[in-house]
Amino acid sequence: MPLSPRVPTEVQATPEQEIAQVASLVEAQQACEWLRAAEPLLRQWQVELARVPAPPFGEAARSLWLAEKFRSLGLDEVRIDEVGNVLGVYPGQTSGYIALSAHIDTVFPPNTPLEIRQEGSKILGPGVSDNGAGVIAMLAIAGALQATAIHPSQPLLFLGNVGEEGEGDLRGMRHIFSQQHWLDSIVCNVILDGAGTDVIVAEALGSRRFEVTVRGPGGHSWSDYGIPNPIVVLARAIEAFSRATIPENPKTSTNIGVIQGGTSVNSIPEQASMRVDIRSTSREEIDRLDRALRLALDQSLNESMDRAMLTSEIMIIGDRPSGDLPADARILQVIRAVDKHLNNHAHIQRASTDANIPLSLDREAVALGGGGRGGGAHTLQEWFDCAGRDLGLRRILLSVLALAGVTE
Ligand SMILES: [Zn+2]
Repeated sequence: MPLSPRVPTEVQATPEQEIAQVASLVEAQQACEWLRAAEPLLRQWQVELARVPAPPFGEAARSLWLAEKFRSLGLDEVRIDEVGNVLGVYPGQTSGYIALSAHIDTVFPPNTPLEIRQEGSKILGPGVSDNGAGVIAMLAIAGALQATAIHPSQPLLFLGNVGEEGEGDLRGMRHIFSQQHWLDSIVCNVILDGAGTDVIVAEALGSRRFEVTVRGPGGHSWSDYGIPNPIVVLARAIEAFSRATIPENPKTSTNIGVIQGGTSVNSIPEQASMRVDIRSTSREEIDRLDRALRLALDQSLNESMDRAMLTSEIMIIGDRPSGDLPADARILQVIRAVDKHLNNHAHIQRASTDANIPLSLDREAVALGGGGRGGGAHTLQEWFDCAGRDLGLRRILLSVLALAGVTE
C-alpha cells in the first residue's frame, strides 16, 4: 500500500525567514533609519552620561539621569527601585517581558576626574564604552520604537541596572531576579555590555572570591618568640591550597591575588590576610575548591603549636553563579539569524556579565555589545568609536523585535 504523503498543516517559518519578515516591515525599516539618523544625538547623550559619576555603590546620580531619559523617550511606568535600578516599560499586547538591560555602574572610584572629550568619531574618557555604549544602545532602541510606534506583541522591559562591576557582584540584576514578580514575568534577557558586534556571550563564567584572615596575639620577635605567627599559618594554607587539583575541563582557575599582614620585621604579626579568586565553568568545581580552601586553612591552623591563640575568618566577597544557554535556545537562534541577515560575524564567548544571574536560573539570556568599537575598558584611557554603530543598533533592534514578535 502506498504511503500517503504527509502534508504539514502549518509550515513553521525558519528563524531566517522570521527575521527577513520582521526586517521587511515598514515600521522596522523606519526604526532602522531613525537609528542611523540619531547618531549625533546618541553621541551627545553618551558624553552627558559619562560625565555623571557612577562609582560602585554610588550610582544614584546616574540612576536619576537615566530615569529622566526614559521619561523623555515616553517609556511607561518609569521608576527607580530600592537598589537604584532604573526601570521603564514599552507596552505590548500580551504578557511576559523581553528585558533589554545595560549596567549603569563603572569601576571608577568617586572623585575620578570624568574628563570626557570627543575627537572625530571617537569619545574618550572613563566609562564611555563600558558601559556608555550599552546604555546608549538601550536608549537608542527605546527612541527608535517610540519614533515609529512599533507594536511588539510582548512588552519590553528597559532596565538600567546597578552593581555589575567588581564587588558590586551583580547586585542590580540579582535584585531583579530575587523578586517573584520579575522571576515569573521576564521571558528572556538581552543584556547590552560594552561595544562591538562580534560577540554573543551565551555562557556565564562563575566565580567565588574570598578574603581569608588569620589573627593572633602578636608580640615581640625575640621576647615573645613561640607565639603562633598568622603569616606562617596563612603561608602553609596557601601552600596546601595550591596543591588542589585544577581540571582543564571543565575549565577552572584559582588565584591568590592579594596578601597582607604584619607591621615590622621584628614583630610577630597580629594578623595576615589574603584574597582568593576561584573561577570555573562548573558550579561543582567552585564548590569543591571552596571546600579545599577551608580545609587547607583548617589543617594549617591545626599544625600550629598553640591553636587556641589563633582565630580565623573566611569571608565571601564575591559570588557569581555559572550557567549555560542550551545550544537550541530560541534567543540564540534569533541572534544567529539576525547576524546572518546583517552579514555580521559573531562568536560565542564565555564571560562574567549580568547574564550570569538569569542563566544560572535556567532563563534565556545573552550579552551583546552596543555596536561601534571600544577599548581601554577599566582605564582612564578608555575610548569608544561611534563609526558604524548603527550595525550594532540594528542587530539589537531586529533581535528584540523578533523575540517580542511584531503585529502589523
Ligand atoms: Zn560592563
